[in-house]
Amino acid sequence: MSARVLVVDDIFPNVKLLEAKLSGEYYDVLVATDGEDALRKVAEESPDIVLLDVMMPGMDGFEVCRRIKQNPDTGHIPVVMVTALTDNVDRVRGLEAGADDFLSKPVNDTALMARVRSLVRLKMTVDEWRTRETTASQLGVVDQSATAMDEPVEHARILVVEDQDFETDKIVETMQRDDDAIICVDNGFEAMKAVGAEDFDLLIVSLNLRQEDGLRLCSQLRSNERTRSVPILMIGTEEDTDRIAHGLEIGVHDYIVRPVDRNELLARARTQIRRKRFQDRLRANYEVSLSMALTDPLTGLYNRRYMEAHLQKLLRKNQETKKSLAVLLLDIDHFKQVNDTHGHLVGDEVLKTFGYRMKDNLRSFDLVARLGGEEFVAILPDTSADMAHFIAERLRRSIGERPFKCNVPDGELVVTTSIGGALIESGTQSVQDALDRADKALYEAKDDGRDCTVFEKIGKLNPDDFKSEDRPIIE
Ligand code: GH3
Ligand code: MG
Ligand code: MG
Repeated sequence: MSARVLVVDDIFPNVKLLEAKLSGEYYDVLVATDGEDALRKVAEESPDIVLLDVMMPGMDGFEVCRRIKQNPDTGHIPVVMVTALTDNVDRVRGLEAGADDFLSKPVNDTALMARVRSLVRLKMTVDEWRTRETTASQLGVVDQSATAMDEPVEHARILVVEDQDFETDKIVETMQRDDDAIICVDNGFEAMKAVGAEDFDLLIVSLNLRQEDGLRLCSQLRSNERTRSVPILMIGTEEDTDRIAHGLEIGVHDYIVRPVDRNELLARARTQIRRKRFQDRLRANYEVSLSMALTDPLTGLYNRRYMEAHLQKLLRKNQETKKSLAVLLLDIDHFKQVNDTHGHLVGDEVLKTFGYRMKDNLRSFDLVARLGGEEFVAILPDTSADMAHFIAERLRRSIGERPFKCNVPDGELVVTTSIGGALIESGTQSVQDALDRADKALYEAKDDGRDCTVFEKIGKLNPDDFKSEDRPIIE
């Protein structure tokens, strides 16, 4: 699907001009003729980018921009202000309202198209994280009301690559207003060394380095694993228009033209820092909520939800490979007594140690999960009946034969477990069936006196048959 651009301008010929240019580049163009109309269309149509005129009757462009950017539902949509205003004060005002760029009319076509393309591409990345975060927030862990505008701009770590001292000094002085930590280097080699050694929130790169091509350095930074998502701000001259456009094409986020205006530099740097921090936050939230959704916080093992999804996949795979897998259900014996006698905290300690021991005694590709309470499961892919029996007995012994260290008067507790096992042949498709079969065997194990293993169709295993064996855990 081609990207959709909302053009906002009260003067009809301006709209037509932009519309023609954009349609020529295969964008879908939506049009709004005043501020109110623009906000409505942004909310209803969620365009991929907004080209916004500043001078409009009623609500002006600055206000429209501010409202778009402050709304959590629309704040991620890039806004480019396109205006006849050329004054730096207006430019900075636009950037401070949250605009991603501020272009003066008459707009250079190459610059405009490069800008639109690069912002649309950046939005795709943010969109991806937003979607994932939305899924995560449905699990109730993420604050969805935040926008990039809420991110702090202070104390950023910035790398400056510039070989003209007075320019470097100007940048450092300017960025010190935000107490940023700034490292300055004057060549690409030092720059690559610096980004290899620490993380940055922003890279400022001169396109007019005497010894080398700053654009090539930008390209290197874009493809470097550690700096791929770190924003880059290019500094160039009026003559660099084509190279700036090229820079935007290869994923550089923004640029500023010499002579560098301090306020503009500060505003552009802040925009990039906020965006980086916002994106980092989305990603971190996503990762935390993902792990919360799939693991059990007490033991760190997978939870039932994950286990069921994974077992479903394994069953499907078995179908193709004609292999069988084993399901082992473990339930701690008389666990209620542990809680009743020593308290819940000791019970929790026992659960944790139980989880560690299970993991220690299984292969790394066996899946261990806590189903809830004192019930655990091990899924052993590609396993024969013989092997499954052996593993189950070894697991049972690893629990019972060494007391658990915990906070009780004796310093340790004897814990035993009952195990129900089922060998799931390649025909079985239902996760519930597989678990039910193991559960029935577990029930029999409890009935049969506990601290023993019962396999479906086999019955209770005789510990003596397995005792002498000392097979290693084979990966
Ligand atoms: P059985 O040998 O028949 O399995 O007896 P049991 O006492 O182990 O089984 P029962 O199902 O009667 O009791 C399970 C206990 O596990 C009851 C519950 O309070 C406790 N429990 C469940 N979840 C947790 C937990 O997260 N932490 C602690 N400490 N206890 C838990
Ligand atoms: Mg129990
Ligand atoms: Mg139980």
